[in-house]
Amino acid sequence: MADIKTFIWDEKYECMGEDERRELVGKRLIDCVKRTYANAPYYKKKLDKAGVSPDDIKSLDDIEKLPFTDKLDFRDNYPFGTLAVPRDQLVRFHASSGTTGKMKVVGYTANDVELWSDALCRCFAMSGMQKGDLVHIAYGYGLFTGGLGPHYACQKFGSVAIPVSGGNTARQIQILTEWQPQVICCTPTYMLHIIDTIEKNGMDKSLVNLRSGIFGAEAWTHEMKDQIESRIGLTAFDIYGLTEICGPGVGCSCQYCEDQIHINSDMFWPEIVDPETGKVLPEGELGELVFSSVCKEGVPMIRYNTHDLTRIHYGKCACGRTTPRIDKITGRADDMLIIRGVNVFPTQIETAVMRYKEVLPHYMIYVDRINNLDVISVKIELNPASFPDTMKGLEKLTKSIEGDIASITGIHAKVQLVEPRSLPRSEGKMVRVIDSRFKK
Ligand SMILES: [Zn+2]
Repeated sequence: MADIKTFIWDEKYECMGEDERRELVGKRLIDCVKRTYANAPYYKKKLDKAGVSPDDIKSLDDIEKLPFTDKLDFRDNYPFGTLAVPRDQLVRFHASSGTTGKMKVVGYTANDVELWSDALCRCFAMSGMQKGDLVHIAYGYGLFTGGLGPHYACQKFGSVAIPVSGGNTARQIQILTEWQPQVICCTPTYMLHIIDTIEKNGMDKSLVNLRSGIFGAEAWTHEMKDQIESRIGLTAFDIYGLTEICGPGVGCSCQYCEDQIHINSDMFWPEIVDPETGKVLPEGELGELVFSSVCKEGVPMIRYNTHDLTRIHYGKCACGRTTPRIDKITGRADDMLIIRGVNVFPTQIETAVMRYKEVLPHYMIYVDRINNLDVISVKIELNPASFPDTMKGLEKLTKSIEGDIASITGIHAKVQLVEPRSLPRSEGKMVRVIDSRFKK
């Protein structure tokens, strides 16, 4: 880990009292519901169907009267039906791929882009970025929010964006070692791939001068954070976001709450709800994460159910912020596999894999249905530096990892140890799972 000095970007909003914040968000919600109802026909239909009028929303306490929205609203109103402003008021589109095949398309007004930059500046300050820092952005530039979001936020923050975008790992390493940026933004798996490549080529790691890594866009474990920090000597932060709500910057971990994420709740109001009943759950209980992007103009989403499972915590953090924190999301709903009726998250398998120094944190999960039975297998790369050199040793290692996966997930997965560097590498979001069950 590197020594970092952090600061608070916007004390007024990040450190305000909870009552004051609820009052502010209440006012923003009332306005947001009115605007969205008046301008987005799909939302009017939804509220009319639920028998709710915008006038019924008089404070934040009334939020529970409002129906949920979710990714189906994007699918059913593709591409522009979720817009709440005329198209000529937009300055940009972003989109994220939907599991159902249709993209979730989000239009941004100039104010939306400003809001996004504000949210990201708070995260940057939280992760130790300083004015004048060089910021290596290795997220893909394009429809994906990972590249352009941080790019514009650097301008607002006063740091210098290096828009490397994804891919071309040799050039990434050249910039990291020769330009020596202080901060990198990319997916955690791509950071690992960069580190692997530096090590494999026998390059001098001390030439990399990174102080912080702002990693996100995929679920990752604490074990992976430890490994990245110890192998390249930076401090890793978990940035959270989703295109439907804004993009990266909905929240971020601070140096004190490394397995939790501060949510910029004055902009993106979070609730945790019971997946069965939809009722709001109290602090500390596990449920589905719901956001209302009360400040957004282009595509405001009200009570958008991410279906991601987590818990929420209130109260002041050691960093001084009063924004609520959610537990690190180790299972994004879209990644969840149902294997013989059991819910399994790829990160659970990662936790088992990361316990062994004999293997590398590179693995792929394959799911198939054979004779009407779900079968799961995991290919894991051996670590060339420390794998057992006898058949017996390899068998023992295989059985041991299988045992750990079974105790964590409750299902039996067949483990296959493979040659180092034989599995595909990601230069963006890692595809960990090949599910062939429904493709026949
Ligand atoms: Zn904190």
